[in-house]
Amino acid sequence: MHHFQYKGNELYCEGVAVERITKEVGTPFYLYSNATLEHHFKVFDEVFSDVPHITCYAVKANSNIAILDIFGRLGGGADIVSGGELFRALRAGMSPDKIVYSGVGKKVDEIDFALKSDILMFNVESPQELRVINDRAGALGKKARIAIRVNPDVDPKTHPYISTGLKKSKFGIDIKRALDEYRNARELKNIEIAGVDCHIGSQITEIGPFKDAVRKIKELVLTMKSEGFEIKYLDLGGGLGIPYNAEEPPHPFDYGKTLMEGVSDLGCTLILEPGRVIVGNAGILVTKVLYTKEGEEKSFVIVDAGMNDMIRPSIYGSFHFIQPVIKEERKDVMVDVVGPICESGDFLAKERQMPEARPGELLAVMSAGAYGFAMASNYNSRPRVAEILVQGDQYHVIRKREGYEDLIRMEKIPD
Ligand SMILES: *Cc1c(COP(=O)(O)O)cnc(C)c1O
Repeated sequence: MHHFQYKGNELYCEGVAVERITKEVGTPFYLYSNATLEHHFKVFDEVFSDVPHITCYAVKANSNIAILDIFGRLGGGADIVSGGELFRALRAGMSPDKIVYSGVGKKVDEIDFALKSDILMFNVESPQELRVINDRAGALGKKARIAIRVNPDVDPKTHPYISTGLKKSKFGIDIKRALDEYRNARELKNIEIAGVDCHIGSQITEIGPFKDAVRKIKELVLTMKSEGFEIKYLDLGGGLGIPYNAEEPPHPFDYGKTLMEGVSDLGCTLILEPGRVIVGNAGILVTKVLYTKEGEEKSFVIVDAGMNDMIRPSIYGSFHFIQPVIKEERKDVMVDVVGPICESGDFLAKERQMPEARPGELLAVMSAGAYGFAMASNYNSRPRVAEILVQGDQYHVIRKREGYEDLIRMEKIPD
């Protein structure tokens, strides 16, 4: 099921012509398909339907409250990494007892906010953090439910910037030290040990790393059980990859089967933290060609979306298909697709074979639903773009395009 399709020569999102939206909201904008979002969430969640589980969508992948609302309605929870994400999840009506909180640098005010909100659990990433959570829980007269984020030292075979479970990684506590830390946690008055957590990386396209991580985590859980720990929740993180180009990641069904087989006899409630696999291919970035330009050695297509709108190609060298919104017969040429930002790292595609583009025409940057708008900035004083959600033959602006006033709203010239 694919909801970004050509009808004749024209690209549609569900029942809405992309060009029609452009006429009304301008460019660039992110465009999401509600049907695809729901479909991806349901497919993923149903894989685990035979076991007790909570699908905690990783808010950082795409944090628009309209999108959180969709997953909340489908019974999903949230994996958050900041107070801001907690605020969004609650504002979108997500239930605090389905919210887990990860991240190496939780601040006191964020910890307090999470404690007062009664979230399901903290995924603790260091011994010092554990002590701060214990102190804050004491101060607020609460008990903090925790899991330790265990670093299983598994290579997820993905981009180094999104590998998180290697020994040299800043995330989690090394699996060899985890047991000791759980023993320490047991002595803390305001801590309730609720589970074990791990997350090894993102855009993982092989099943092997998941299998290895699960095997190691299971060993730890068995040892802990023999020491009398009660492990209610097993949080296996997110990270399942998607096809951007020629990748062939495991289907959620095979991924789920591997996880469930690995831990079925432990009697834990599973927590999953999928992000990209749910939203990545449910969104595109629509941009307009401003100019084409022949350089000495290269040809450029200059578009109105830049690295501030979509930074993945710049920082990860990631590939996104780029296709015309209106198809026509024309020859293929080799180009760099670049934005207006004053940085050489500002590109959406390099040395890409694609149909010769014309000034004024629209291009669709595919697979842009995850880590797209969520990573956008105002660099070069560019107002952030609009976000649009299509439902059937209607569309809704779920985030207005920023204006110039928004750029300076928080600024002040001293008297
Ligand atoms: C980023 C992140 C996720 C989601 O990763 P995806 O690759 O988008 O599925 C899940 N859990 C944690 C702790 C993360 O940091």
